Order: sequence, then C-alpha cells, then structure tokens
Amino acid sequence: MRILLHVCCGPCALGPQEALNKEGNQLTGYWYNPNIHPYSEYQRRLMTAGFLFGNLQLSLLVEQADFSDFLSGLVEAQREGGRCLFCWRHRLEKVALAAKTGGFDGFTTTLLASGHQNHQALKELGLEIGGRVGVPFLYQNFRVNGKEAQARSRGLGLYHQNYCGCLYSEWEKKI
Ligand code: SF4
Repeated sequence: MRILLHVCCGPCALGPQEALNKEGNQLTGYWYNPNIHPYSEYQRRLMTAGFLFGNLQLSLLVEQADFSDFLSGLVEAQREGGRCLFCWRHRLEKVALAAKTGGFDGFTTTLLASGHQNHQALKELGLEIGGRVGVPFLYQNFRVNGKEAQARSRGLGLYHQNYCGCLYSEWEKKI
C-alpha cells in the first residue's frame, strides 16, 4: 500500500517507518505541524525530520504551516479544555486531505508512536476523519518498538525535544 505518514518529529518517525516498511508498504512522509512553537523550534524539528528522511531515502512532503489559523483555534480550544483534540484534528484533517488528493491508499501518524498522546482518542479521530474524507486511516500501536527506535535515533544523532510542541506544553513543562 502507498501510505502517507504524518511526521511530527524525526525520532517519532523511526518506529512507524520500520513497522510499515516491514509490512511491504511504500511510505511517503508528510510534514504539517503548526503546533510547534516558537518558530526556531519548528525549524529545528523540520530539519531533523528532513535529515532522517534523506537518510532513509524516503520522500518528505512539507506543507506550509498556517500559524495564524492554528493559533486562533488553539487559544479558543485551550479555554474550552479541548486543546490537544483541536491540535490533532487540525493536523490529521490536513493529512487526510493530502492523502486523498495524492491518491494514497491510506494515511497514519507518528503521534501513535508517542507515549504522551492519547492513543484511543487519536484512533477514534483518525477513523472518523478518514471516513469523512474518504481515505482509510491506518491505526497501529507504533509504541511497541519504541525502545529500538529510540536507540536508532540516538545512533543517528537526531535532535530529541523535551516538550510536545505548543507554547502551552512548554510552559506546563517548566512550571
Ligand atoms: S500539547 Fe502537543 S498535542 Fe497538545 S496542543 Fe500542544 S502541541 Fe498539540
């Protein structure tokens, strides 16, 4: 299958890449992450993902971030207590639309490799968006080979961030 893999950072992509390639899928990475703040951090993670995909000899499509649109929605979602749900939805809808436009057989996300994200909520959201857009969401627990992926990532010298991405998450980490 031709799969469009939403990539939120370099280290998180290694587990999904290995699992999906092992199954014989053909992968293309897709970068769309207006949730990463500040911009210098956004660039650093994008450069890391670009380096990794070059190293793996896989394509990484880069969608320009619309920070204004994202930030206005994020502030409202934060007030209403649904910040992460808004953030996942905002990004996964973009990935699904890109997968549909590009004629991919399905899409998925490296968010499923993170132990910090809500797996069940992501699964339900991905399936709902995939059904609405008309392109299958590929759910897998990419956390299972996390330790090996971390070791590979360290071996490649990839940058590892210490907060999720948005200003709120950095703030929460430091207070
Ligand atoms: S904590 Fe992470 S998932 Fe939640 S809104 Fe911030 S960047 Fe998005």
